[in-house]
Amino acid sequence: MSRKLAERVASLKPSATVEMTERVRAARLSGRKIIPLSSGDPNIETDPRIIVAAERAMRAGDTHYGPAQGLPALREAIVRREALRSGVNYDPADVIVTPGGKFALLTALMGIVEAGDEVLVPEPGWVSYGPCVRLCGGTPLALSMLDHIDEELLESRVSARTKALVLNSPVNPTGRVFSAQEIAHIVGFAERHDLWIVFDQVYSDLLHEGIFPAAQAAPGAQERVLVVDSLSKTFGMTGWRLGYLALPKGTAKTILKFIQHSIYCVPGFIQSAAIEALSLYDELVPGYRRMFRHRLDHATERLSAVDGIACRRPQASFYLFPSVAADDVEVARHWLENIDVATLPGSSFGSAGAGHIRMSLTCSETDLDEALDRISRVGLAA
Ligand code: PMP
Ligand code: GLU
Repeated sequence: MSRKLAERVASLKPSATVEMTERVRAARLSGRKIIPLSSGDPNIETDPRIIVAAERAMRAGDTHYGPAQGLPALREAIVRREALRSGVNYDPADVIVTPGGKFALLTALMGIVEAGDEVLVPEPGWVSYGPCVRLCGGTPLALSMLDHIDEELLESRVSARTKALVLNSPVNPTGRVFSAQEIAHIVGFAERHDLWIVFDQVYSDLLHEGIFPAAQAAPGAQERVLVVDSLSKTFGMTGWRLGYLALPKGTAKTILKFIQHSIYCVPGFIQSAAIEALSLYDELVPGYRRMFRHRLDHATERLSAVDGIACRRPQASFYLFPSVAADDVEVARHWLENIDVATLPGSSFGSAGAGHIRMSLTCSETDLDEALDRISRVGLAA
């Protein structure tokens, strides 16, 4: 075919997380059950009251276009949530509701990245950061930050073309939470080089110990931090596609044009569900958190007993990122092909993740136990 598809999409690497989920789904349809420790999609049923709120809104006629920026009541609820969690006060005018955190990320990058700009992205880091930078015409540059932030490395990666830095805490895939001191260093670095910071905090409600230092809460940082957040992980609402941006004062009106010309708005009834979810936060989220913590503790203990696996329970999230004394791609393939357990090689999250396996503890506890039994039985080698 002589007509070519645009390089913009043709050159993208497929999403390793999404592809693995599709593979598990296809296997299930053909009658083969693979235990999914691969996708960050919690096995939480959306609370029925949240579903009722969506239904009520639809029946009441909220089936039209709505405000592009999001329902004022939802933006107010988001502002209250953000003030409680990070202590930072936003005006609802600085919040944009998006279809999921992934689109919030793309929207933020659309708002700041020009063709030819460089954006620093964390490694190991979530698989969509680099591709979203590329979709905006920018070039992602990997910053290795597995267990510490190397100041010299930061400085060596920056150039006149560097426009922004993506920072994610708690980290997908490791569950690590950056300390207040680390956040202060990064904010200081961004100030010295006048960079935007895109701060992805979608796992911040799943904190199992300590405190959660938010980039936007560092002194003077709010004006350069674009906060990406989502209800997906917190409430078991991945399929609802509900996320948001909390933006530096005065930037939302301009960035909103991208929403106007693309999705126009998030469906109003989905936003009504989100308002209900946020109102149920204290009732629902502590229980979800305890459930994930229990799974992390249990799996950490069992994996630590397997030859060649070293595992530590992370401070947050539902991910484990054990190191394996073998090639991570081979280990993931061995488990998928020989014991029907789907995980992701750490190197899918960038070369700094090599030698690790990402396990998402989001299946049922019975399936998790079965997967751990199988892994304990076969170990690392095929
Ligand atoms: N950021 C990170 C680090 C993630 O792991 C995810 C998971 N999908 C997202 C953002 C976006 O999530 P969603 O689009 O479901 O809100
Ligand atoms: N973020 C989740 C994961 O890392 C879901 C898939 C995706 O959006 O990449 O598994």
